[in-house]
Amino acid sequence: MDVGMSEPRTTTELRTPVLSSIWGQSNVTKAVSSGIFVCPTEGMERAYWHYRTRSWRTVLSLPVIPGDIVEEYVECFCCGETVHPQVVKSQHPSLRVESTTD
Ligand SMILES: [Zn+2]
Repeated sequence: MDVGMSEPRTTTELRTPVLSSIWGQSNVTKAVSSGIFVCPTEGMERAYWHYRTRSWRTVLSLPVIPGDIVEEYVECFCCGETVHPQVVKSQHPSLRVESTTD
């Protein structure tokens, strides 16, 4: 047999880069709820958004398969301060009661 200098093999090399450009991962943050809380920075009742960041598997940069929750936080409408959602949870029992008419 001779030592062939034929058959260039490039096909398997290409596969991985192509696949990984179709599948990707990205973090998507969106608001899941809103309400009123006492902003720790301002010491006043403020509206807030509760945001959740989740990792998604993406296909062609479109999120298709939801993954784990990466981060959750509450953002004050007024000053933009972000705090842990636990802050709101601990405040809500007292804030939620019917005495909201003023
Ligand atoms: Zn604030």
